Amino acid sequence: MKIHKALLAIIIGSALSFGFAHAADAKKDAAAASKVAGCCTKAAADSKACAHACCVAAAKEKNNCAKCGGAGAIAAKK
Ligand SMILES: [Zn+2]
Ligand SMILES: [Zn+2]
Repeated sequence: MKIHKALLAIIIGSALSFGFAHAADAKKDAAAASKVAGCCTKAAADSKACAHACCVAAAKEKNNCAKCGGAGAIAAKK
């Protein structure tokens, strides 16, 4: 019986830490806020797409251009 209890504790413990790790991952994802590069913000203000080759390439991957100061993925339009 003692062994079973210990085993159960280990299983519960690892399940909990697995859950915590996932929660931390989700938080990390949310914390990695997307930031649109300045040049792309300006272009968007003129309802244009930024003409920079680096920005176009990043946009194709649905990312903001990191070279121009952007970060993360492009926020999905609703
Ligand atoms: Zn740009
Ligand atoms: Zn760029």
